[in-house]
Amino acid sequence: MRVKILGSAAGGGFPQWNCACPNCRAQRGGTFPGKARTQAQIAISADSRSWFLLGASPDLRTQIEASPELHPRELNPRDRGPSAVRKSPIAGAVLANADVDHVLGLLLLRELQPLRVYATDSVRGILTEDNSMFAMLQRVPGQVTWSSFVPGTTFPLENPGGEDSGLRCRALSLGTHYPAYISPSRQGELTSGEASLGLIVEFPGGKRLAYMPAVPQIDDALLQEFDSADVLLFDGTFWSDDELIRIQGSGQTARQMGHIPVWSAEGSLAKLAGLRRPRKIYIHINNTNPMLNEAGPEYRQVRESGWEVAEDGCQFDL
Ligand SMILES: [Zn+2]
Repeated sequence: MRVKILGSAAGGGFPQWNCACPNCRAQRGGTFPGKARTQAQIAISADSRSWFLLGASPDLRTQIEASPELHPRELNPRDRGPSAVRKSPIAGAVLANADVDHVLGLLLLRELQPLRVYATDSVRGILTEDNSMFAMLQRVPGQVTWSSFVPGTTFPLENPGGEDSGLRCRALSLGTHYPAYISPSRQGELTSGEASLGLIVEFPGGKRLAYMPAVPQIDDALLQEFDSADVLLFDGTFWSDDELIRIQGSGQTARQMGHIPVWSAEGSLAKLAGLRRPRKIYIHINNTNPMLNEAGPEYRQVRESGWEVAEDGCQFDL
């Protein structure tokens, strides 16, 4: 029962291509006391043979190449045709929203590999009805099988052939904002509770992973969910609410973008201080976040509060 963090940054990665904030400049200059990161991506497996992706990041190709477990297996000489060489251990993906940095990677998986993709009806409609490029996933029968789920209900993750992987998933409805590329009139047709989800994965034996990369606020029901998890991967996008405004001179607050900041009286560090059960790891960290600097006071404060800061390539067993 393994969890691999393939990518740990927020959209844009760290450094981000068009960003000259102090963090990105120092990272490019080789003087930053912290690691570069690709865009957030998790892979999970019950048996270390068949893997499911949580999201599909734009960095998926390099993330797969950096992870030997996800490389295609040796071909069986008795097999013939494309099936002899196209044998990725990736069985499918679970989508939590329709953000570009969460779904673009599906297009990188278009080379006729059978995959099962789990999504709400709203997210599936956005991708397969509104965005014709995703038809690349439907070029041949049996390429991508879309499976619908409804937030709040538990569903099994099945391999493309239909065998049960042993993994169970349940989505929590967290935010009501759809990505900016979806028109207001189209948003009006979609279910608002399917816009932004957190994912709870239950492994055989009962261990639980909570993957929550975009959390606008924390209420008591959410605290209970987190307290029943063994590992919590939580929204570490912004350190402070006005972080982007201070660096860019304009823009939105963290909360307006659907992310509770790490620090402040109402931030996640304070709100989740009472959690005792789960191992707590910040993920989806924006390139502007000062806690990326491992020599800085913010990083020290997070570590001294019992949190870890996710890095690309780290993995653990449950
Ligand atoms: Zn930057």
